[in-house]
Amino acid sequence: MNRILVTGGAGFLGSHLCKELLNQKKDILCIDNFFSGSKNNIRDYISHPYFEFVRHDIIHPFFAEIDGIYHLACPASPIHYQYNAIKTIKTNVTGTINMLGLAKRTKSKILLASSSEIYGDPAVHPQTEGYWGNVNPIGIRSCYDEGKRVAETLTMDYHRQNKVDIKICRIFNTYGPHMALDDGRVVSNFIVQALKGKPITVFGDGTQTRSFCYVSDMVRGLISMMETKRFTGPVNLGNPEEHSILELAEKVIKITKSKSQITFKPLPKDDPLRRCPDITLAKEKLHWEPKISLDQGLERTVEYFKKQILSSV
Ligand code: NAD
Ligand code: UDP
Repeated sequence: MNRILVTGGAGFLGSHLCKELLNQKKDILCIDNFFSGSKNNIRDYISHPYFEFVRHDIIHPFFAEIDGIYHLACPASPIHYQYNAIKTIKTNVTGTINMLGLAKRTKSKILLASSSEIYGDPAVHPQTEGYWGNVNPIGIRSCYDEGKRVAETLTMDYHRQNKVDIKICRIFNTYGPHMALDDGRVVSNFIVQALKGKPITVFGDGTQTRSFCYVSDMVRGLISMMETKRFTGPVNLGNPEEHSILELAEKVIKITKSKSQITFKPLPKDDPLRRCPDITLAKEKLHWEPKISLDQGLERTVEYFKKQILSSV
């Protein structure tokens, strides 16, 4: 399996995945519409002989001869996916149908980047793959949550009906270099605010939790899943260490040695209160678990953002 299509390859996760696949001597075709990704993320390998980029919006069919697809295209930050909610649904539904159709025609293996968001505001904790979730179907997050749920349904149906070789990964909060400065997700927001000496915006009282996985661990998990035989998933990929958002704010202030103060803002509607993956299945089937601690990952991410901020002034 050498010719690999990466959708959303100019985004945060996709760009790291392309880099690792190039290191593994794969032939990469990256497609992206630059909605939330950037040329900067793929700058280092844009002229690599085994890297090809096509600006393409996956809501339109795409034709290429390939052996495998990592399907990541979809905005992941709440401010990005809510900016044009209908477009987010089209990307998840029409875009995913287009990629599954391509996989069917080319007999390619396809890996769907699903999300912990399919569990909604979970009533089961930590979340196991067997839990069906608690999602508001008409809320402001539904374009993404329900979009990913339909994307999973479509992926399973192409598997059952058309024997497409599929893989479903439920990705939990992942962070690291290549997140956009204005991405809006909590790790990038806090680091940028801390480095600029601005108030750290904690939404709600900060007791809500998330589990943060460093990007290199996630990329390793995605590749292991793609390469595993006879296992479709869904499988949870994430770091099972759970932290409150207030704890994260304090950690970022400490690591950056910032003088920023914490300020409290209203909690966005339908913001999940707790989130933590049960990764027993990933350990068993993929022999995968995260290796990078939150402190190590934050330190690397802070270094990246320092350079970005310096080059943007
Ligand atoms: P990102 O926003 O940085 O990357 C998404 C990429 O997809 C961007 O480059 C964007 O321009 C591209 N894109 C969006 N709509 C497109 C379209 N219609 N056609 C072509 N390209 C399009 O987000 P990310 O964090 O890198 O997330 C990548 C994938 O992983 C997404 O599917 C996301 O839902 C999933 N995921 C990520 C996380 C996380 O914490 N990072 C958690 C759960 C799931
Ligand atoms: N959050 C916050 N301040 C910010 C951005 C986010 O307190 O500036 C909170 C947000 O309300 C949520 C958590 O951090 O509880 C994670 O938010 P993010 O948007 O990163 O991811 P998601 O909610 O999709 O897990």
